[in-house]
Amino acid sequence: MSLAGDYDGNNIFAKILRGEAPCVKLFEDEHVLAFMDIFPQSQGHCLVIPKNTTARNLLEFPADRLGTYFASVQKLATAVTKAFNCDGVIVTQFNGAPAGQTVFHLHVHIIPRYANLPLQPHHGGKPADLDVLREQAARIAAAL
Ligand code: 5GP
Repeated sequence: MSLAGDYDGNNIFAKILRGEAPCVKLFEDEHVLAFMDIFPQSQGHCLVIPKNTTARNLLEFPADRLGTYFASVQKLATAVTKAFNCDGVIVTQFNGAPAGQTVFHLHVHIIPRYANLPLQPHHGGKPADLDVLREQAARIAAAL
């Protein structure tokens, strides 16, 4: 059901893209917006979303835009690893609720991993302090 369906223009990421909901932004150009995840699974967890699309997931996104989108994801993942000096980084996304998707506008997670530090759960974690997220976003932006 959630894998196929209509795009809801009132999903939270659509609202963030329209400036109707807040986010802690770290990068933006004509193709993508990147911002800090409000329920981070680790320090530096951020999201990269494509603009000008009604793709709910990767399967619906035009193939001819994937290169541009993932070039941005790669650039941001590189900046995140520099900014946080992490030991690894997860780059992932989920398609459909049974796969773990909760927001139905295509997005990629960039989640730094630190040796011997467990991840917070994908859902049900604690919301981050906004000042902390702002400082982290500034660190990532400076590493771009
Ligand atoms: P999904 O579960 O669909 O893969 O990922 C959605 C992500 O969006 C989750 O990691 C969740 O913490 C994050 N998220 C949900 N609502 C908001 C919000 O209002 N602002 C921000 N910055 N992140 C959000």
